[in-house]
Amino acid sequence: MAHSDSVKASVPSYLKEAQMIKQGAEARVYRGTFLGRSVIIKERFPKLYRHPDVDEKLTRRRTTQEVRSILRCRRAEERTSLEQLQGINAPIVYFVDYTTHCIFLEDIIHSVSVRDHIVSVQALEQNPQHLQTLADKIGEILAQMHDEDVIHGDLTTSNMLLVSGAEDQNIKLVLIDFGLSYISALPEDKGVDLYVLEKAFLSTHPKTETLFERLLKSYTASSKKSSAVIKKLDEVRLRGRKRSMVG
Ligand code: AMP
Repeated sequence: MAHSDSVKASVPSYLKEAQMIKQGAEARVYRGTFLGRSVIIKERFPKLYRHPDVDEKLTRRRTTQEVRSILRCRRAEERTSLEQLQGINAPIVYFVDYTTHCIFLEDIIHSVSVRDHIVSVQALEQNPQHLQTLADKIGEILAQMHDEDVIHGDLTTSNMLLVSGAEDQNIKLVLIDFGLSYISALPEDKGVDLYVLEKAFLSTHPKTETLFERLLKSYTASSKKSSAVIKKLDEVRLRGRKRSMVG
């Protein structure tokens, strides 16, 4: 069978009933049901431009990394909740189909992305105090994630969901899309993770420099290993500035 035929034949039946909510370059995201629950299904589809064996290996690795990082965050969440702290919220992984490269995740219902939330607060010129509390929370969660040596790899405000209904002092944030994540204890990797967020944050939300500084302050106060990470962040920022001057 030609590679494209085998691709068509392999569309899993559960995806036929699910509704696609995002078509990305690497994966498609669907909303569907699984054992009676509302779920998000992330399907990594084959890349026809790659050799099938290489593609299979890479796709499998990405799926494994995503699941591993989510589980690591969730394990830390369980531990910290025993200590009455809010941990790193990430969706429950219900099921992984390694044949079709589909991950079935908890659907975080009644949530909005932090991106949409900040945009609407800024558009309505609502109380900026609320955004400061949110920035504190983001800094705290990322500090905990990095202390677990999880590097997200694609930190943006679209990859953080804010569960509505939570009180201002009790904001519930859920991190999603660990597709580019990996495990590393290196301060450089954590610094780059924050740099990616800084770039995305400031370009998506203009005039939020102070807010981002507040996020970093909260990160610094919450992480046990922040000084080496912030030092690396400063180095990466400097390299970025030099590169843009040359370019
Ligand atoms: P992703 O490619 O993983 O960033 O997902 C694309 C979009 O699907 C996100 O921007 C969210 O709006 C939504 N989404 C992804 N995962 C979840 C989830 N676990 N619960 C609710 N919505 C999600």
